[in-house]
Amino acid sequence: MPTPEELLEKLEERLILGEISEEIYKQLKAKLLAKVQPGGGKAGGMSVSDSVVKGDLTNTSGAASVGNIIVNLPPAMQPVPFPPPGGYPQTGGLLACPLCGRRNEMKDTFRCRRCDRDNLCLEHFVKEARMCDDCAAKDAASLAETRRRQDEAERARREEAERLRRQEEEARKAAEPARELELDCGRGVKMKQVLIPAGSFMMGSPDSDPDASNEEKPHHKVTITKPFYMGIYPVTQDQYQAVMGSNPSNFKGGANPVEQVNWHDAVAFCEKLSAKTGINIYLPTEAQWEYACRAGSTGIFSGTGRVDQMGWYGGNSGGKTHPVGQKRPNAWGLYDMHGNVWEWCADWYGEDYYANANDDDPQGPSSGTNRVLRGGSWSSYPRSCRSADRAGFDPSIRYDGIGFRVVLD
Ligand SMILES: [Zn+2]
Ligand SMILES: [Zn+2]
Repeated sequence: MPTPEELLEKLEERLILGEISEEIYKQLKAKLLAKVQPGGGKAGGMSVSDSVVKGDLTNTSGAASVGNIIVNLPPAMQPVPFPPPGGYPQTGGLLACPLCGRRNEMKDTFRCRRCDRDNLCLEHFVKEARMCDDCAAKDAASLAETRRRQDEAERARREEAERLRRQEEEARKAAEPARELELDCGRGVKMKQVLIPAGSFMMGSPDSDPDASNEEKPHHKVTITKPFYMGIYPVTQDQYQAVMGSNPSNFKGGANPVEQVNWHDAVAFCEKLSAKTGINIYLPTEAQWEYACRAGSTGIFSGTGRVDQMGWYGGNSGGKTHPVGQKRPNAWGLYDMHGNVWEWCADWYGEDYYANANDDDPQGPSSGTNRVLRGGSWSSYPRSCRSADRAGFDPSIRYDGIGFRVVLD
């Protein structure tokens, strides 16, 4: 009498041979396992032979059984009649393969679990799939088709994701202000501007800087609340000529900074270029100027930190201005912030202004007699070219070491 374990083995064998469906196998296995569980009782009286298993599993009653274990099958799972009506061709006790007619011993034949063709010879039975050649081929084809559809769906999904990503990136770029822009001064003359981000910085000088004068103190935190554009160079003579129709400079050269311009000339230039371009153009506030000059640096000079690399001053200029953009830029792409020409700022100059200045976007004192100059010139000592250095000058004075650069919103 077979034990439940032996019955399980037999079931497994039937499944491998394709004689029972996986569904029936699972149901019978569950029943058998229930029998061997502690408390489930002995599988007493279970006696089974090949023919019983085969016969019972393939009857038409809608039930399958192993020994005294009965499994009720749902209608769709009912096995096909066995032997089939009319029977398989049979000669001399041997079974003929339905695909090639070769005659085989019963133990050497197989059954397709898909189409239920029985008595298949080994050549027409695919063991791994437990199917006949036909069904295995169909299965492989439908598997390939499924894979192809999955691949296609995956590719479409990726393409859609990529398209959305690009669309988002373009929308983001369109919403962002351009990093650089060019103003048209007329007569084919352009003026390059670079975007200066909003942010905070420490304005003025700490006590540790021996060159710092009292009006650079206290060292205080200032926030520039809005991004703005700033000319990457001081206004050149070509640009001034194109906008104003004249060139007052002492050191002539189209690419050299314009000089001999007083504060009122600089403001007039901004107003005229604003009218020409439809963009509001100004002189920078003193805070904007120092913030842009430092470009995140905290030392004495911005960029490389060395005045001789960053600008033209008394020690390297040869006593004159130089074409703009020949020295190193600072971290935000601004040239000639140190030296070449002093640059007018919008603010009134207040020696003690830092003690009372606003934290956000300081605009300078409300009144005064001098306007702010920043950055030093071709004739300056290095200390006058420092990022924090401040000077005030009569707004009506013209001198060949003073020019300016512009900002716009
Ligand atoms: Zn065959
Ligand atoms: Zn088949």
